[in-house]
Amino acid sequence: MQIKHPKLMIPGPVDVSDQVLAALAEPTIPHYGPQWLAVYNEVITGLQQIFATRNDLFLLAGPGTAGLDAALGSLLRTGEKVLALQNGFFGERLADVARAYGLEVRTVTAPLGLAVDPDAVRRRLAAEPDIQAVTVVHLETSTGVLNPLAEIAAVVREFDVLLIVDAVSSLGGVPLPVDEWGVDVCVTVSNKCLAAPPGLAPLSVSERAWQVMERKGGRAHGWYLNLRTWKDYAINWASWHPHPTTLPTNIVLALRASLHHILETGIEAYYARHVEAAQTVRSGLQRLGFELFTAPEYTSPLISTVRGQPGVDVEEMRRYLLEEHQIMISGGLEDLRGKVFRVGHIGRAATPEYVTAFLNGVEEFLNRSQ
Ligand SMILES: *Cc1c(COP(=O)(O)O)cnc(C)c1O
Repeated sequence: MQIKHPKLMIPGPVDVSDQVLAALAEPTIPHYGPQWLAVYNEVITGLQQIFATRNDLFLLAGPGTAGLDAALGSLLRTGEKVLALQNGFFGERLADVARAYGLEVRTVTAPLGLAVDPDAVRRRLAAEPDIQAVTVVHLETSTGVLNPLAEIAAVVREFDVLLIVDAVSSLGGVPLPVDEWGVDVCVTVSNKCLAAPPGLAPLSVSERAWQVMERKGGRAHGWYLNLRTWKDYAINWASWHPHPTTLPTNIVLALRASLHHILETGIEAYYARHVEAAQTVRSGLQRLGFELFTAPEYTSPLISTVRGQPGVDVEEMRRYLLEEHQIMISGGLEDLRGKVFRVGHIGRAATPEYVTAFLNGVEEFLNRSQ
């Protein structure tokens, strides 16, 4: 079968650079030994710079959800209570993961398209002092809402509660200073803003989180997804194989190439590229009669979620862009299906080449269907 390669302008996975593809094509290397150690440590150090953290950082092989699974299963014991902040599909998913570990889930919910209110979080934590942890999605990819994480983290810090952040679609794309904000476990993936292929879930773990895990004692869930296992190998096998299992070494090499690029560009300049791309896409779409679904105060420069307009079939437009222009964008999830479309501004999608091709394609579609 001939594989097609449309331009990916979805919120991930993203199209990666030629340098990243070249790294991916290198012969496979083993996941241990001196050469590997240098590669692995370089990737961990690079990620710590982007996370702005001195916390432990691990590179789990798996999707972002594996990292979230590991966070919930390691920090909490069956029967404990967590507060899940929800304003869309991924916030609900996180609550489902918590329930699967036998946790008692409380929720603070905001309507689709709005951000979670930090004051509502404070009220809930004050009312239920036995809540042990809060889960929050930084960028709710299903709607494009960027939750006010700094404010939410400050509220959580008023209580003796751990903060688990799903930064799968935001980390590397917008500032998320883990130590400054006091995030206990921060989870991301290789294949969104870090602009590498899918396969890795980098996550950071705070000293406070380790202390809570120690204090609780007892049995955490699982072995591979147990953060304690990762810490033990990072210490005990530090000079040879600082992680418990085989890692997808080609993907790690590809991530390393992407981190080189990000850090050489400078993290601020890398963020700025997304801002520029988002502004061009948004003003172009507004000129063509579209409106953003997400209020400006809650949007990030990483995804534009855009309302359909009368007489425009969003799903037909997506098909047209794919078939006629080889450009892939996303539709709405669940309740938003057919009502909105979502355009990613991450990876190569942030380049003028992609942005221009997309806007030309949309304009051609609108002219054609008139
Ligand atoms: C993409 C995404 C996920 C899921 O990531 P997987 O790698 O598919 O597990 C989780 N949360 C958010 C916010 C996402 O954007």
